[in-house]
Amino acid sequence: MAGREERIAKFVEPLRVRPGSKVDLAKRFDPASTNGVASKQRGKEILARKNDLLAEYQSRLAAQDTYGVLVVLQALDAGGKDGTIKHVMSGVNPQGVSVHGFKVPSAEELDHDYLWRYARRLPRRGEIAIFNRSHYEEVLVVRVHQELLERQKLPKAARGKDVWKRRYREINDWERYLTDNGFRVVKLFLNLSKEEQRIRFLRRIDLPDHNWKFSRADVAERAHWDDYQRAFSEMLSNTSTDWAPWYVIPADRKWYARIAAGAAIVNALIDIDPRYPTVSDATRRELREVRAALEAQAPEGAAPDPFEAGERAGRDGAKTAVARS
Ligand code: AMP
Ligand code: MG
Repeated sequence: MAGREERIAKFVEPLRVRPGSKVDLAKRFDPASTNGVASKQRGKEILARKNDLLAEYQSRLAAQDTYGVLVVLQALDAGGKDGTIKHVMSGVNPQGVSVHGFKVPSAEELDHDYLWRYARRLPRRGEIAIFNRSHYEEVLVVRVHQELLERQKLPKAARGKDVWKRRYREINDWERYLTDNGFRVVKLFLNLSKEEQRIRFLRRIDLPDHNWKFSRADVAERAHWDDYQRAFSEMLSNTSTDWAPWYVIPADRKWYARIAAGAAIVNALIDIDPRYPTVSDATRRELREVRAALEAQAPEGAAPDPFEAGERAGRDGAKTAVARS
């Protein structure tokens, strides 16, 4: 076990943005990297095992009911957010996960402070929530298209030149508050190259089943590529913190992005190390009494306690948790 967990920590470490470091996306991060994973086949093997780990930790997270996990997914259009969510979450218990997408804010949302709509979708304790786009749009699309800031009905003092620095600080503070209170924030940026985006847009045009995904607006956004690269670089430089670091996931190869995103989430869960609750001595005594009563109700010929008799032990490995005596 320890080996697996250490391997995951090692695997994600190079993807983490060191808090306080100045990031220039174009220079430092290669969207086509696979971080030493040799092939898609090898990637699939790793992915299968990682999903087992994810399911196990999720189950413990839910049982412990103390911590929650917020997964923040950001990317440029065609970066693969939807596919990543689908693959990472296959195999987890849907009862413990929610996914929330954020689009152009509604009139009601614009009538509140800018973090309001994100705060309403935070996970409960024991849950994992995935944000498909997130509060980071408030320093990305809103920064690239400043007219969106105008629509936010801010008082004059809150939309001055220092607005982005201030938002970075407010977001960092908010995430620190969440972390201090048991909610871990895992931030994943799917880093796509401009050429791979071009190819994925063409694919959406060429394949009839993918036409629905094509949006003219996405192509218009592509014209702002450099502005977005700058906005992402600034965001990464200012909001990768000790309590909520960013992971830059190379996204040109979908199979790799899925493994890496999953690994970063599992790594956070390993760090939380949720445990199944144990029961008190008093509860254990109570369980013994109830067991005795249930055993007394066994029909003619039936084992009083088939679990302890080992009748099912071969099948599901059940062990009696509450000792006799
Ligand atoms: P999609 O994720 O493709 O469904 O698109 C959602 C759209 O909503 C994108 O064009 C985003 O840029 C836009 N969007 C998301 N958050 C915001 C925001 N806070 N302000 C303005 N536009 C946003
Ligand atoms: Mg879109």
